[in-house]
Amino acid sequence: MPKTEMGEAGMGETESAAMLEARRAMEVCNACRYCEGYCAVFPAMELRREFGTGDLNYLANLCHGCQGCYYACQYAPPHAFGINVPRVLAEVRAESYAQYAWPDKLARLYERNGLVMALATAGGIAFVLLLALALQRHDVLFGPQSLAPGAGFYNVVPYGAMVWTGSVTFGFSLVALAIGFARFWRDTGGGRLAQPRPLLQALRDAATLKYLGGGGHGCNERDESFSTHRRWLHHLMAYGFLLCFAATSVATVYDHFLAWPAPYPFFSLPVLLGTIGGIGLTIGCAGLFWFKLTGDQAPRARNLLGADAGLLLLLLLVAVTGLLVLALRATGAMGVALSVHLGAVLALFLTLPYSKFVHGVYRMGALVRHAVERPEATHRS
Ligand code: SF4
Ligand code: SF4
Repeated sequence: MPKTEMGEAGMGETESAAMLEARRAMEVCNACRYCEGYCAVFPAMELRREFGTGDLNYLANLCHGCQGCYYACQYAPPHAFGINVPRVLAEVRAESYAQYAWPDKLARLYERNGLVMALATAGGIAFVLLLALALQRHDVLFGPQSLAPGAGFYNVVPYGAMVWTGSVTFGFSLVALAIGFARFWRDTGGGRLAQPRPLLQALRDAATLKYLGGGGHGCNERDESFSTHRRWLHHLMAYGFLLCFAATSVATVYDHFLAWPAPYPFFSLPVLLGTIGGIGLTIGCAGLFWFKLTGDQAPRARNLLGADAGLLLLLLLVAVTGLLVLALRATGAMGVALSVHLGAVLALFLTLPYSKFVHGVYRMGALVRHAVERPEATHRS
């Protein structure tokens, strides 16, 4: 966590400038309360009289950056109070990703996350290309491919290498994400997690992106005007990702338990899931990236831009190269397309706990805590 300006946290730790500014903003908002119907952040804020670092990390991850309170605020710049809630909560959010990262030393990967993601992507692609050249015939990357079961994909990267590399990296990332979530939960108040009602409420809010609906008219995505585009693009990205994951899972079951190895015909379940998911992921990531580039930058945090762009572009690369593998799988270009796709997937697996991907984990935790502490929420939905 960068500590450009020092203060004293509750546990005697120094605090960042963003944390100090977030506390000031919450204290002003708690007196003002004009925005209390805007989202879940303000009702959660109103339950508190003091704001420790855990409270601010919770509120920061409960904020989804709709920017509504920035355009509505009478104390926003150029007012002397200079209140900019979305920006300062996004800055705290970015710092919280590093604070909860495990192992601790890898928290530094958040410092220049855009560069880290670019290097991981390049490294992943180079690794898979070298693996293919080292383990298979040298012409395998460029020769025509067979669509016979068990051939094609495994001619480029052997089955064992593909499974082991994917399992080890994905398994490590799941452990790191789980530890990060446990740290977040403990720091933001702890308590029992397995209460069905709040869990279901949080799952419903996350699955429907309730708060991105802004009560029906949507969010301030690029400027003061309202639209629901961001909500739909986020749906396309998230559900596209889940469909791609489902495609891989179904293919694994086919291969391991039904002795039916890839490649599969177009009208098979894994290919249909992967195609629909890949198209959704492509449109969602491209659209969200466009909003990042063209929207008003005043309510946004500069220290999150690299992480935002890095993850969106990596997911876009995974989706586009996955669709290319499908389109080119019977041609001589399949070897290179598959290697680039697997390299991008490898980079994604490796960086899951050290990229903006953790947003989903901590936001889910914040939604659960919100459902636990305020089951009868009165804010608009
Ligand atoms: S963002 Fe501005 S208008 Fe909204 S509650 Fe805070 S101080 Fe009041
Ligand atoms: S930016 Fe949106 S979600 Fe975040 S505090 Fe303001 S109104 Fe709530």
